[in-house]
Amino acid sequence: MAKIAFIGLGNMGGGMCANLVKAHHDVAAFDLNPAAVAAAAERGARPAASIADAVSGVDVVITMLPAGKHVLGVYFGQDGVAAHAQQGILLIDCSTIAVDDARAAHEQAQSEGFMMVDAPVSGGVAAAEAGTLTFMAGGPGINYTLAEPVLKAMGKNVFHAGGPGNGQAAKIANNMLLGISMIGTCEAFNLAEKLGLDAETFFKISSVSSGQCWSMTSYCPAPGPVPTSPANRDYKPGFAVAMMLKDLHLAAGAARAAGADIRLGKLAESIYQNLSERGFDGLDFSGVMKDLKGEL
Ligand code: NAD
Repeated sequence: MAKIAFIGLGNMGGGMCANLVKAHHDVAAFDLNPAAVAAAAERGARPAASIADAVSGVDVVITMLPAGKHVLGVYFGQDGVAAHAQQGILLIDCSTIAVDDARAAHEQAQSEGFMMVDAPVSGGVAAAEAGTLTFMAGGPGINYTLAEPVLKAMGKNVFHAGGPGNGQAAKIANNMLLGISMIGTCEAFNLAEKLGLDAETFFKISSVSSGQCWSMTSYCPAPGPVPTSPANRDYKPGFAVAMMLKDLHLAAGAARAAGADIRLGKLAESIYQNLSERGFDGLDFSGVMKDLKGEL
């Protein structure tokens, strides 16, 4: 059992924090939003009034925040974690942030005497609640060994992806592939339909043929074949266009820095950017299907 501070109790963090409590960890919870802190307290965490209060006496700090600037601010800003936590403790950042920001955080954490792991997640709010997230962690092996049992209380699959920032690298490469494969799946279903196949028939064939992929078999963007997919509830997320666009921006930035050719990744980014600019940030990312059909 560890003494943990959890910072960032939003859509994802709320459920993750509750699962740590369920696993009998001693958890102090902090968020800028007092309602989120109150909700965490109702689920068994100790409500903290500030970062300083949350990190007092803990062995581990977990962050689940919107972007890199929030993580760097919470860690190293005035009255942040580094200013108040005991040196030598483990910082686990589960947010999705830029690889460069994660590597900068690792470097500064180490120079200020902290251990760090970047451990972004795959899986949405339902997986955060159910404790079935996939974690991909980056950092020195010794840090990962310490983080693993804590991450296992919130997830089903936990991977060590390598050194600092490699968790974020795995996450954005995976999500870039997801964005591309979703658009491809939408185009295939739309083409099949225009050529006279109904969605069920095309699904039966393609889901056991060489076009098979997760976007089709687990999250089919055409209504019908996969009852749990957002296509059956008018594309309510799920995983919203805004979230996919965030991850594609991160992938494009990282690819630029690394000199990697991601021409389909950039095309996917422009397709989601276009949906966002037309006001569809809140649509599920499989809603590209609706756009192809001229229904947006
Ligand atoms: P969210 O906006 O619901 O939650 C973020 C929380 O952080 C909010 O409660 C906010 O008040 C809090 N916060 C912001 N700045 C803070 C600060 N300085 N101090 C304390 N608290 C602060 O976001 P979310 O959907 O929970 O996502 C969190 C992270 O997880 C993001 O990086 C996102 O990309 C990633 N992610 C989300 C999903 C998803 O389906 N929602 C899936 C995978 C990964």
